[in-house]
Amino acid sequence: MPVSRHPHAPGDIVTPERDITHAHFRPGDQVVILKGVAGSELRGDAYKVVTSSWHTPTDEDGWRLFDPSGGERTYITAHPRYLVHLSRRCADCLIYRQALHTYLVPRLAGAGEDIDCGWYSLTRLNQVVHVADARGGK
Ligand SMILES: [Zn+2]
Repeated sequence: MPVSRHPHAPGDIVTPERDITHAHFRPGDQVVILKGVAGSELRGDAYKVVTSSWHTPTDEDGWRLFDPSGGERTYITAHPRYLVHLSRRCADCLIYRQALHTYLVPRLAGAGEDIDCGWYSLTRLNQVVHVADARGGK
């Protein structure tokens, strides 16, 4: 199914407020970065956590991720608060996922297509950056 950018996608007020430690994740974990909505569910891209890696956009500890469909960008680095566990059922990730679901799905329900909210971008150094973390002077 094609994924489209929603022209009026709401800004993400949930992820920037998320409090999650770097140590919550470990190499080998399966994670997802939630980026939008598919029908009445959140949608995102799935990755495997590889190793600890500096997240330069925030100047904080991040995680290098393996993207099985990444092509030339197979390895990317993301901040822990962008990540949600797929491989474990943990309260920290569940609370975040439900908060995002409650905020986002009612606002985009009925669009009839998969929506990417456009919150995340990839820098030239293969760092995933959330719009709230993007600063001037790239
Ligand atoms: Zn978790």
